[in-house]
Amino acid sequence: MPARRHRHRFLAALVGLRSAAAGFSTAPSQGCPLHAALARRGAPAAAAFALYSRIRAAASPTPYTFSLLLASLASSSPRAPSPAAGECDGLAAAGLAHAQALKCGALAHTVVTNCLLKLYCALGLLTDARRVFDTTGAAALDAVSWNTIVSGYGKSGDLEAARELFVRMPDRSLVSWSAMVDACIRAEQFSEALRVFDRMMEEGFRPDAVVLVSMLKACAHLGAVERGRWVHRYLEAEGFGRRPGNVMLETALVDMYSKCGCMEEAWQVFDGVRSHDVVLWNAMIGGLATNGHGKRAIELFRRMLEKGFVPNESTFVVVLCACTHAGRVDEGKQVFRSMRDHGVEPRREHYGCLADLLGRAGLVEEAEAVLLDMPMEPHASQWGSLMSSCLMHNNIVVGERVGKKLIELEPDDGGRYVVLFNLYAVNGLWEDAKAVRQMMEERGAKKETGLSFIEWNGLVHEFMSGDTRHPQTRMIYALLEDMERRLQLIGYVKDTSRVLIDMDDEEDKGSTLSYHSERLALAFGILNIPHDMPIRIVKNLRVCRDCHVHAKLVSKLYQREIIVRDRHRFHLFRDGVCSCNDYW
Ligand SMILES: [Zn+2]
Ligand SMILES: [Zn+2]
Repeated sequence: MPARRHRHRFLAALVGLRSAAAGFSTAPSQGCPLHAALARRGAPAAAAFALYSRIRAAASPTPYTFSLLLASLASSSPRAPSPAAGECDGLAAAGLAHAQALKCGALAHTVVTNCLLKLYCALGLLTDARRVFDTTGAAALDAVSWNTIVSGYGKSGDLEAARELFVRMPDRSLVSWSAMVDACIRAEQFSEALRVFDRMMEEGFRPDAVVLVSMLKACAHLGAVERGRWVHRYLEAEGFGRRPGNVMLETALVDMYSKCGCMEEAWQVFDGVRSHDVVLWNAMIGGLATNGHGKRAIELFRRMLEKGFVPNESTFVVVLCACTHAGRVDEGKQVFRSMRDHGVEPRREHYGCLADLLGRAGLVEEAEAVLLDMPMEPHASQWGSLMSSCLMHNNIVVGERVGKKLIELEPDDGGRYVVLFNLYAVNGLWEDAKAVRQMMEERGAKKETGLSFIEWNGLVHEFMSGDTRHPQTRMIYALLEDMERRLQLIGYVKDTSRVLIDMDDEEDKGSTLSYHSERLALAFGILNIPHDMPIRIVKNLRVCRDCHVHAKLVSKLYQREIIVRDRHRFHLFRDGVCSCNDYW
């Protein structure tokens, strides 16, 4: 792009003028108005360089000048830039600033080195950051340097690299531990995040708000409500709740309780907050929606508007989701149409929600039209939701079109073949079903492994399909066999389309005694959790039809309350029925 090239030349002209062999002036620069201007963050890179250039013209730059310049560039750079998408300005500016600092010998100062590390990490240039880190002698690095690089790797999703440096770190502070917990969460290693947190506590650190928010996120993902309650008690005991500006913690609590299906406690936290903000409202509305309280979620949205809060993009996502779960098609359409009145332009996810609302209500043609006509390209996941609706309402015409499109879009995702296979199979189109299965095998497409989590006694137990790793494996399988016999007596028939189950889980093949992960977790729950406590399970994929029937019957036979959170929603099984009314 010529404009960009032009700007590059401009930056180069600004900084590449004369050699700065003069080195650093030792004069203090704090009182200088140019430095004060540079300290004001958020200006574009070119403006920061213009100031730098004027400082250089007036006097020699000091380490302080470089700290300010680098920090200013870091604050003006977007979080995760993609070099292809035109973030070259940020990259070029970082390179130029680095070269200048090097030339002036500023990198002999740890403060400047740390600012440079922060800049590269902010730009997502971990290779450059690492080069600076490795070439700086260990003596010239301090705790900030180590924390910066560990956190940089964590934020970029490279948990291994973060861990490698964390282990080598000479001195770990609360900031280091917090960066490591955050790294685990970004890499979606939630159980590991809890373990790191435990080690941090063992070493005597007192957690702050940042790491506690991370902990609540991990608990929410794992459905680990006991651990979550512990964090809540800790917050109260330490007086976090009374400090102002902690709505972030309260939001994380509402979110955690909602994701664990504890709506009473979520409400209590929500009601106890003195100054609400829109993020907190969104968390509460979203929590109600995914827990099957669509009607209450919509009511809460109305209350939020009455109180004068301005809804944002996320608000509309959760409200549309509430309408979907409550099956309120007309209300959802009306909410969608009202978005622009609230100054929110519908984005991809809002169109997706609208399509989902229509699809789940059986209006799959209309839903397909929304996805085809929307101004941006729909995500594969949005076609995926429509495909689930086609399967749910057994619409082979739209389903076949959508199913083929999905395979085209994501040829390596085994799950995409499975749904089309299932649609053909339930309609008795065996030849087509076989062809899909064959295509999947030829391409070596893999289905995501099903995982279920259940918390007991402060530990999160993880099960895979057909898992035999758990110490109680023998008891679990014995119970499942016994369970199956007893369930048959009250009318349980294994899904007759056995072939569907085979296709649903590749681990099933060749083993007669394997079960989906949620059943292993359920058996573990029955064996260990006292009768008066609900059994809470979190599954990473959607619960299959057979396991859904199974869980309903188990809730009746064993008189247990079973709560399963799958990828899409909550199921509360009680006395033989599920809160989702078999609609998920
Ligand atoms: Zn299953
Ligand atoms: Zn259900």
